[in-house]
Amino acid sequence: MKAIYPGTFDPVTNGHLDIIERCSKKFDKIIVLVLNNPSKKHMFSVEERINLLKDVTSNLENVHVESFTGLLVDYMKQNHVELIIRGLRAVTDFEYEMQMALMNNRLYDDAETFFLIARNKYSYLSSSIVKEVASFHGNITGLVPEKVEMAIKDKLKGV
Ligand code: ADP
Repeated sequence: MKAIYPGTFDPVTNGHLDIIERCSKKFDKIIVLVLNNPSKKHMFSVEERINLLKDVTSNLENVHVESFTGLLVDYMKQNHVELIIRGLRAVTDFEYEMQMALMNNRLYDDAETFFLIARNKYSYLSSSIVKEVASFHGNITGLVPEKVEMAIKDKLKGV
């Protein structure tokens, strides 16, 4: 069975990667889908986010990275995927995730969302907090893959 792991991934963190690795063992195929929301401001372009994701998942044969502009359910219908994977870090994630899961199910009856609880060590980790810490020259080693750490530092050089 295949499943889709949608998100912004600006950029991918070790928390995202942990979810991807755990799912890749349970499903035949995982599509990591970078959702392009032009109204949001991002540090990395969609292409850059895809390249980083491809790089850090290159050892996982059943993981594919793609991007999509539009409603997740439209991608799912076009590509015959019915399962959505999302990560839950804390209670604060719950309200938004429940809203999204119910809306996606309303828009596409066959869509079901599976939640994985974040590991303790990543439960406070988000792309935003990593970018914020890095912008003040804080240490982000171990929070993101090495390649991502270098990419963030490169971005911030120009700021
Ligand atoms: P979105 O804008 O769709 O929330 P994100 O890239 O922030 O995109 O997150 C994608 C998914 O990964 C969400 O389900 C989010 O809860 C989950 N996620 C983010 N960070 C972590 C983490 N540290 N551990 C586990 N899941 C996470």
